[in-house]
Amino acid sequence: MTGNAAHAGFAIEVRQRYSDVAPDRWPVSIEPLPDELLSSWLHRLGIANGIAPRSFAGVLEFGDGMWSPRLDHRLPRNVAMLLCHQTHLPLGAISSMTVDGVAITALLLPLRDNAHRNRSTWMQYCPLCLAGDEAPYFRRQWRLASRISCFVHACGLRDRCPGCRAGIATFDQADLVSQHFCARCGFDLRTAPKASVKASARRLERAIADICRVESVRDSARTSDAVSRVLRTPVTAGVRSGMTLTNLSTAARIRCFEALAAKPPDWLVNDMEGADAYRRWMIVAAGGHEAMIARFADFLETHQGSPRRKRLPPAADRSALFTAYFRIMQSGSHHRGRQSAEY
Ligand SMILES: [Zn+2]
Ligand SMILES: [Zn+2]
Repeated sequence: MTGNAAHAGFAIEVRQRYSDVAPDRWPVSIEPLPDELLSSWLHRLGIANGIAPRSFAGVLEFGDGMWSPRLDHRLPRNVAMLLCHQTHLPLGAISSMTVDGVAITALLLPLRDNAHRNRSTWMQYCPLCLAGDEAPYFRRQWRLASRISCFVHACGLRDRCPGCRAGIATFDQADLVSQHFCARCGFDLRTAPKASVKASARRLERAIADICRVESVRDSARTSDAVSRVLRTPVTAGVRSGMTLTNLSTAARIRCFEALAAKPPDWLVNDMEGADAYRRWMIVAAGGHEAMIARFADFLETHQGSPRRKRLPPAADRSALFTAYFRIMQSGSHHRGRQSAEY
């Protein structure tokens, strides 16, 4: 874990005497759901064993506040081993629910326990996903500032309770109720009104997710370049400029992406080498936007005459590259269908 671990600054110690309280495994163990966040699984685990999240924090001697979201960011080995021992889940299954070490850590929403107007909160959700879940749970991908909509339901994500405007505070739930009820006012988050996002903004969001995913596999330097461009999008879009994307509420980020989608995507490729820019153009163009494809053609023509042309693949290879990228997209869609992580 890098930046956000330092930001989270905390210390956790599981005392020896916990083994006196629960010497054997806990009565009920539950399986993690696809792309489930560790904190979400912990809340469900606590409730399944008859302990509300706030009390569960006390049992584990983690103290008050955002105890479980902090574990999402950094899971100390002794805590991981304790969870392994008590649930008999493999260590890998537990640690893979964290967001520790993801390639695009800088895009994670900061852990913030309040919900000031237009500012980000730590968690987003899709009401329709929660409504469709047999056991409603929170996804790892909802922690990312670069996510504004649900790829399954094509609606906007939300980051507040419509009933009381507070952020999600499942970690502070004092009652034995499922985590789709607001911990502050009891509102059923599954019934939150649908938020709309323009199709152009959703295409851009998807292209950004694909660029980050493809580049994080290839090269971390390119990922950081993509990530820093994405963090600066409020400035590029002229929406609440001066703030980084991670500080904006979901509603403000939706406005940001909608404004950005109306502009040419040059901001993604400015000052880049031809071949690297080419890959990003391919991904944006694959979003099906005809105007983007036309601009891509213009871009190629412009660079054919430049000294960098040797860095561009020859025409025959270009179609192979296009095919390869579509294959990556399709495999990405397949993963998305299963709602797996996109880091
Ligand atoms: Zn959804
Ligand atoms: Zn509420």
